[in-house]
Amino acid sequence: MRRKISKCCSPSCFQANRKEWIIVNVQINKEECIGCGLCAETCPEVFRLTDEGHAEVYADPSPETEGSVREAADSCPVSVIEVEE
Ligand code: SF4
Repeated sequence: MRRKISKCCSPSCFQANRKEWIIVNVQINKEECIGCGLCAETCPEVFRLTDEGHAEVYADPSPETEGSVREAADSCPVSVIEVEE
């Protein structure tokens, strides 16, 4: 006997199980970056420091890194990480 599985429509359940990601682009204004390294520490999957002493985005954000990308952008001391949605 088959049971019909109904979808949960609770907003909190939807958020917890959300697979899509909202960030479509993340950029750094390299000329304004002071090279503190905080973004690379916060989200090493997306940000890294270059030999020139500033940060760069070397990988696209994913659903798994979305939260830490936002945290890095919010924590940047000179606010040069731009997150587009
Ligand atoms: S947190 Fe901001 S200032 Fe620091 S390295 Fe990253 S982009 Fe540059």
